[in-house]
Amino acid sequence: TTRTPGAEVHALSVRRGRIDALRRIDLTVAPGETLALMGRNGAGKSTLLSCLVGLIAPSTGSVTVGGVTPHRTAPADLVRRVGLVPQEPRDLLYADTVAEECTAADRDAGAEPGTCRALVSRLLPGITDDTHPRDLSEGQCLALALAVVLTARPPLLLLDEPTRGLDYAAKARLVTVLRGLAAEGHAIVLATHDVELAAEIAHRVVLLAEGDVIADGPTAQIVVSSPSFAPQVTKI
Ligand code: ATP
Repeated sequence: TTRTPGAEVHALSVRRGRIDALRRIDLTVAPGETLALMGRNGAGKSTLLSCLVGLIAPSTGSVTVGGVTPHRTAPADLVRRVGLVPQEPRDLLYADTVAEECTAADRDAGAEPGTCRALVSRLLPGITDDTHPRDLSEGQCLALALAVVLTARPPLLLLDEPTRGLDYAAKARLVTVLRGLAAEGHAIVLATHDVELAAEIAHRVVLLAEGDVIADGPTAQIVVSSPSFAPQVTKI
């Protein structure tokens, strides 16, 4: 089998109501590459992630993920190509215990029984089977949601604002996990306002402003040179 690219976006435009949420975006993400989508609220980051996972169809242009068009692909097929950890990881969790969550995740992903539990042991060491997801911290919820998403082994992983609400230790653990996944060959796209996170794990930064890509390049170059980051730097 040929190695499928992480994702390719070509001249993607999305209209949401009267707003151009995205305007002729071009973007590629390669296996093993971590890309940070940055830009202020409303810039179009979440819209782009929604397109990559097939929740929103392009108004014009194309999106290809692992060789398929996400919004035309059946969920059972798409789940093996791309996984999204949403802004509220709790939105993905619906079972009453960690064990049930894992059983459901295996079933939904068509994975061998025990696949999700093994991921949970790796990402959330020490958590017990009977823990109610309601009793998990933000960081633990994120780890459990990540395990659920990874159960189908999607080569492309999307995360929306993953460090929101995380304390320092949980953030450090996330950085380690994401670096490990990138080293295993996962393509990762994260929408984030967290410059520190981007600096630590992103190979590339794509800066969006009102639906346009205004910068796309190596992380160090974008974070240092972009005017959009200058106010944050001068305030410190
Ligand atoms: P944030 O950091 O707040 O998540 P974002 O960069 O992810 O912002 P988007 O959520 O993609 O930005 O929003 C892009 C544009 O689309 C904004 O102008 C927003 O108001 C608009 N928009 C977002 N969601 C909807 C929706 N459900 N219906 C109509 N317009 C929407």
